Amino acid sequence: MKNNSLLRALPNTDDVLAAPELTGALASLPRPVVLDAIRAVIHDARVRILAGENVDYSVQEAARDAAGRAALASRPSLRRAINATGIIVHTNLGRSVLSEAAAKAVAEVATHYSTLEYDVESGERGSRHVHCEELLCRLTGAEAAMAVNNNAAAVMIGLAELARGKEAIVSRGQLVEIGGSFRIPDIMRESGATMVEVGTTNKTHLRDYESALTSNTGLLLKVHSSNYRVVGFTAEVSVRELVELGAPHGVPVMEDQGSGVLFDLTRYGLPHEPTVGESVAQGAAVVTCSGDKLLGGPQAGILVGRHDVISRLKKHPMARALRLDKMTLAALEATLRVCLEEERAVQDIPTLRMLTMGIDESRVLAQRLADRVREAIGSGGEVRVVDDIARAGGGALPVTDIPTAVVAVTPATMSVDSLETSIRCGAQPAIVARVKDGRLLIDPRTLVSGEEHDIVVRRLGEILSAGV
Ligand SMILES: *Cc1c(COP(=O)(O)O)cnc(C)c1O
Repeated sequence: MKNNSLLRALPNTDDVLAAPELTGALASLPRPVVLDAIRAVIHDARVRILAGENVDYSVQEAARDAAGRAALASRPSLRRAINATGIIVHTNLGRSVLSEAAAKAVAEVATHYSTLEYDVESGERGSRHVHCEELLCRLTGAEAAMAVNNNAAAVMIGLAELARGKEAIVSRGQLVEIGGSFRIPDIMRESGATMVEVGTTNKTHLRDYESALTSNTGLLLKVHSSNYRVVGFTAEVSVRELVELGAPHGVPVMEDQGSGVLFDLTRYGLPHEPTVGESVAQGAAVVTCSGDKLLGGPQAGILVGRHDVISRLKKHPMARALRLDKMTLAALEATLRVCLEEERAVQDIPTLRMLTMGIDESRVLAQRLADRVREAIGSGGEVRVVDDIARAGGGALPVTDIPTAVVAVTPATMSVDSLETSIRCGAQPAIVARVKDGRLLIDPRTLVSGEEHDIVVRRLGEILSAGV
């Protein structure tokens, strides 16, 4: 057929819209989205005809294409993904996965009215701070606590309240950058504090802080080097020493603890990471940390410390701008409640379970997964269990190798890079895995459920058994 007659033969929008192939899409997706999809597939066909292609496009075909296109366009942008990397607090994949208790608490307050700022006993207005404060105090030994949007916000409000218009002294070894946009010197400037750097990159002594102390000093700041380590010839000053130095001058100490570790991790064969409680016990006026790193909760910034200081922070004008919404508060409260019992916390909070999983358990999981993958792919590739390294991620425990066992897949008829792309882009949910030494590595440590094992097995089976 000639160009013109092909163009004239193209189906029209109304006919496609009425085709049975689109009934399902119209029932589940917004009509304008389906209409856009129909117009788009007809437009594409027209372009191909004009380019000289012999396109005979039926109504049914157009409807099928439009249904696919509408479904793709309606896919949430923020959607589930499977983390098979072994990087536990994977910042790009959403950091911590909530425990079941936390997810349930979120759903409950999201779909009902709640006691967010209502005191049921008195029938009067309450405070949103009460929901997590007692739990945080109990878990850290602090007198008072509050939670804000994230740890960056916690540091910001702490600096703004305690050091605006004054000097804040910090060691040159602790001028950290976290994920690009959180940098101590920048936060300092934005909070209105004047940063006074003391010491050197590797060594800072008490006398360095002492000689920088003036009548205009508002704060002594300590920042935990959570995402890097200074090793070798090093020295830093403890929170306790800073507290003793500042006390006679009425200068408080704030520590940015970062990771939000509440338990002694050495019990699980991990290196010692200072807990929030340890900093509190050393007398810091305020300690800040994240809610979604090693605490395993939602994105939040936690501030614990002295009653008088936390009261001032709650009244700071920025507190409103940085406050937590009810869903996050519900998730945080539920997470903290699970933390009251450490044995339960390391079982029920996914981040803690993955972090404290021993190599033996990891090998059992990997072996079981490998057997299933081998069966699913047949001669489509070679499957082995190999020892590898998992990471805490999220800038925590940066130099800690966590021994882990992974399933290593070497595809028989395709490159390992195309296999990696296929499991990531080929279907939903995306499976994110690592490629190392020509093999695809699946670390079952960071798979959150048996269902995710099933998806991995099925997807690898579909891709690799088909290629043989
Ligand atoms: C992660 C981290 C931050 C930033 O915390 P967010 O919760 O991501 O805002 C700040 N300081 C330290 C030391 C950190 O480790």
